[in-house]
Amino acid sequence: MNAISQPPRPGINGAAYRIVDHTYDVVVVGAGGAGLRATFGMGEAGLKTACITKVFPTRSHTVAAQGGVGAALGNMGEDDWRWHMYDTVKGSDWLGDQDAIEYMCREAVPAIIELEHYGVPFSRTEDGRIYQRPFGGHTSDYGKAPVMRACAAADRTGHAILHTLYQQSLKHNCEFFVEYIALDLIMDEEGVCRGVMAWCLEDGSIHRFRAQTTVMATGGYGRAYFSCTSAHTCTGDGGGMVLRAGLPLQDNEFVQFHPTGIYGSGCLVTEGARGEGGYLTNSEGERFMERYAPTAKDLASRDVVSRAMSMEIREGRGVGPQKDHIHLHLEHLGADLLHERLPGISETAKIFAGVDVTKEPLPMLPTVHYNMGGIPTNIHCEVLRPTAADPDATVQGLMAVGEAACVSVHGANRLGTNSLLDLVVFGRAAAHRARETLKPGASQAPLPEGAGDKALARLDRVRSAKGGTTVGELRGEMQRTMQNHAAVFRTADLLKEGVEKMDKVAQGYEDIRIADRSLIWNSDLVEALELDNLIGNALTTVVGAEARHESRGAHAHEDYPERDDQNWMKHTLAWVNDQYKVRLDYRDVKMRTLTNEVQVFPPKARVY
Ligand SMILES: Cc1cc2nc3c(=O)[nH]c(=O)nc-3n(C[C@H](O)[C@H](O)[C@H](O)COP(=O)(O)OP(=O)(O)OC[C@H]3O[C@@H](n4cnc5c(N)ncnc54)[C@H](O)[C@@H]3O)c2cc1C
Repeated sequence: MNAISQPPRPGINGAAYRIVDHTYDVVVVGAGGAGLRATFGMGEAGLKTACITKVFPTRSHTVAAQGGVGAALGNMGEDDWRWHMYDTVKGSDWLGDQDAIEYMCREAVPAIIELEHYGVPFSRTEDGRIYQRPFGGHTSDYGKAPVMRACAAADRTGHAILHTLYQQSLKHNCEFFVEYIALDLIMDEEGVCRGVMAWCLEDGSIHRFRAQTTVMATGGYGRAYFSCTSAHTCTGDGGGMVLRAGLPLQDNEFVQFHPTGIYGSGCLVTEGARGEGGYLTNSEGERFMERYAPTAKDLASRDVVSRAMSMEIREGRGVGPQKDHIHLHLEHLGADLLHERLPGISETAKIFAGVDVTKEPLPMLPTVHYNMGGIPTNIHCEVLRPTAADPDATVQGLMAVGEAACVSVHGANRLGTNSLLDLVVFGRAAAHRARETLKPGASQAPLPEGAGDKALARLDRVRSAKGGTTVGELRGEMQRTMQNHAAVFRTADLLKEGVEKMDKVAQGYEDIRIADRSLIWNSDLVEALELDNLIGNALTTVVGAEARHESRGAHAHEDYPERDDQNWMKHTLAWVNDQYKVRLDYRDVKMRTLTNEVQVFPPKARVY
């Protein structure tokens, strides 16, 4: 390891910061599915690669993904990547960029076969091929019938993929910096990204990573909401860093709610449970999805199922003493099938709801699950800095992949199994691009004078904060605001109030109090830094949602119930300045595909 120690720098509270400099060809921030696929691909291309992660790689949120990864392999019936593309464009409610969607669905097939060869232990069919199950929104022959497209390793697909990718990264000699928190990007005067600053939790040292390219793979920001299925570490750090670098986030108002979170805890029950034959009922025992989506029924897209469940509850047909949730039935599937195909769910149900799924229904509530928005990129994963003159202008030296990014393949609503696919296809694409554009060991200009000082000053300021509000109090305020004002149901009044309340939360950051001043395992300080990142993401979400006067995908606006392609078929771009003020602009959706093999145009009215 070529680490060079620098003389200590004084902070405002008198403590000295120990600074260590590193140089790599590529630095990847994040070791989830996206980060690891990019990391080992870079290593394979002969590039000296470092991966920085705040948790041990195999503890990243990807490990929790259950249901499967989509690819038109056709192992269990006829399938075609063009059908997959059609479903994804339609699922995105025509906000997805069609060049990126074509790339993802086409490359899905080789990317999954590659994963199999790297050693992912997929479940198998009788004749030894990768087992595939049906999933919401995935159809054959351009919407005619459900198709078996989700490649699964029982109900632990993310676990299987993540472990394999980590092993491959070690095999390709990538270097890991585990339990290091990335703080901020290092940008030079020309707007080129030169690397990233990080803080080592174990010994309190500060690290300055210089690289030809920095890859953001930091995951989503589910924790901006009160109830979510994602890990406590999903705090949108990449989005926060990009905003502080003066770059925009895209389409953050589109937040996916998963219909089946366990009532009370938010733990996820995979859509694969409905794929295997599970169904939902209301207080009258009615299978109400037959009314909302007569063809797809319980396997309609997530936004449709979440909205139907919320509607049943609002109209007084919820179950339980408060009539505030819905039942999921699995008991008719039998103990043998549940044990074989859904063992993780059976265990989660027992632990988090006290329910034996072979005997009783599970209590369910729609819960925040996925962020469609994120750091805008092109199909090569290069981060965009759109201007009026050039909406496709890129930032030199910066890439983004995975849930942190917005390519945008999911548009206004992601189909199940398309995120794991996004991670592996675009993690791989980032590595392919780096192989084409970077030279292993190429000499790099010295970092500009004072590189990283701004990040250090910010760390120092937060660390010595002596205000009147604890981080937990302010975070709770933000989470309740987002849950009540920017969830499944949105009205003009609710959103307006949400914008005002989030502004108050953001201004309240000045007044936080940190109890622990140390630099070693200071979780108080970690949470304060994460909260700052969450606030940036939450602000862009609620401000973007208030401005969007239509309903599209996950953004269902009671006062504007129609999708409005005339005025709103465009991506939102949102910048946040140092005073937490948001500025919005827009860019066109890419309707041109790469090969024009499939062209999908929106119908006049919304059809589901
Ligand atoms: C419960 C659950 C089930 C799901 N099931 C499915 C499914 O079946 N199919 C599907 O397609 N999708 C599924 N999804 C969605 C999918 O799993 C996620 O979108 C995806 O795993 C995100 O991967 P990622 O690599 O982008 O980020 P993550 O896996 O969240 O990893 C983020 C990484 O960034 C690192 N990091 C973050 N901030 C910093 C920082 N400041 N400094 C250093 N490191 C940092 C973390 O340590 C971590 O390594 C599911 C999601 C959940 C929550």
